[in-house]
Amino acid sequence: MILNNLTILEAHQGLKKKEFSSEDLVRSCLDEIKKQDKKINAFITVLEKEAIERAKTIDKQIASNGLNNFLTGIPLAIKDNILIQDVRATAGSKILSEYCSPYDATVIKKLKDAGAIFVGKTNLDEFAMGSSTENSFFGPTKNPRDLERVPGGSSGGSAAAVTAKMCLGALGSDTGGSIRQPASFCGVVGLKPTYGKVSRFGLMAMASSLDQIGPIGNSVDDVAVLLDAIEGKDNFDSTSVETPKIENLKLKIENLRIGIPKEYFIKGLDSQIKKNIDHLIKKLKDEGAEIKEVSLPHTKEALACYYIIMPAEVSANLSRYDGIRYGYSIQEGKNLLDVYLNSRTQGFGDESKRRIILGTYILSKGYYEAYYLKAQKVRTLIKNDFQEAFKKVDCLLTPTTPTTAFKIGEKIDDPLNMYLSDIYTVPVNLAGLPALSMPVGKIDKLPFGLQIIGNYFEENKILEIAKTIEKLISK
Ligand code: GLN
Repeated sequence: MILNNLTILEAHQGLKKKEFSSEDLVRSCLDEIKKQDKKINAFITVLEKEAIERAKTIDKQIASNGLNNFLTGIPLAIKDNILIQDVRATAGSKILSEYCSPYDATVIKKLKDAGAIFVGKTNLDEFAMGSSTENSFFGPTKNPRDLERVPGGSSGGSAAAVTAKMCLGALGSDTGGSIRQPASFCGVVGLKPTYGKVSRFGLMAMASSLDQIGPIGNSVDDVAVLLDAIEGKDNFDSTSVETPKIENLKLKIENLRIGIPKEYFIKGLDSQIKKNIDHLIKKLKDEGAEIKEVSLPHTKEALACYYIIMPAEVSANLSRYDGIRYGYSIQEGKNLLDVYLNSRTQGFGDESKRRIILGTYILSKGYYEAYYLKAQKVRTLIKNDFQEAFKKVDCLLTPTTPTTAFKIGEKIDDPLNMYLSDIYTVPVNLAGLPALSMPVGKIDKLPFGLQIIGNYFEENKILEIAKTIEKLISK
């Protein structure tokens, strides 16, 4: 049995039956990292010693108390913008390359309480800004399905680590698609929860009104188990709320009303992806689901709206990295301003600078009203479009991305083209809705994802629909 190839649920069963120990499981993931990560570069930090130590402790706990949680003894990877106490947290940036977190993010505390084990911190676009993981100070991550291609981003390290079986599951963050787009490019399952479902405490803020932490896994069930462990209200994040637990709703496919937003099936969408998704929709119809075309008329404004609101929030959030706090500091120049200037000039990469400058401009007098305020109004229109659609349907099905994974270097000098790879994921963040990406096929050996968008806090429903589809395509 190759332990690192197991799903979380399979590994849980194995631990329960004492077929292997948590230490065996952790060691098999660490061996895989040693074997593969030189070429993939999914990890910024590998927690070898810590993970083995902890697995030994967990094995003792299992021996005396038994197994009471699906995640007990399970090796996971964590995106490097989520804080683990006493572990380096870089956000993929030079400016945080020496920063070590003094506390745990709430999601980490919850995973620790569940008995999970962290094998490492994964690579990402600097401060989660990008769609390819090429914007990392620690070098690009490669797509394990094709090493010449990007794994997507910004949670490219987490998606690649899960794909290459260097861990059994991972956490990412999603501000405009950063969990779903890499899940689609790598051929794994990724879920962005409803805004407020998961605490953001201990997640380095990119754009606070859009950011959510979410799971990445090799199956829909694994993602459900991870979400169940991390969700819930947290007093340290006032936007988090208590919501229904993940449970089996016993949905029947013949009672499902599925919406297909016509604005998502347009020019720019790869014709093979379109053909495959059309085929899947037909299969669902044959199984008895009601398929309805719906319209989200403000979809075409979403990317422009996102690229105003997001950089505005980025410029505010990234102002704290000033060369005084958080480690990296260039103590040169005549005065304090020089320290700020030199530290930020040398500490940030190009994409971060681009967004800080854009965001600062957008928030300045006069432009605030002209751009930011207007974008907020458009955001409401986008949200209303979804609310209208959810009066008629239970979920929306769309491609996750317009293309499969692109080549490393292909879009790095063309930011606008890069931004377009998030065209189907960004509207969901603007509306604050939950959405899942699951692999539904391959084109020229490269996977692509189906996106299932649900109404607020209906993760339960999305997960069940995803499970139904998972069964349908394996038939
Ligand atoms: N790719 C998008 C961006 O560059 C989304 C990033 C994210 O979700 N963190 O902003």
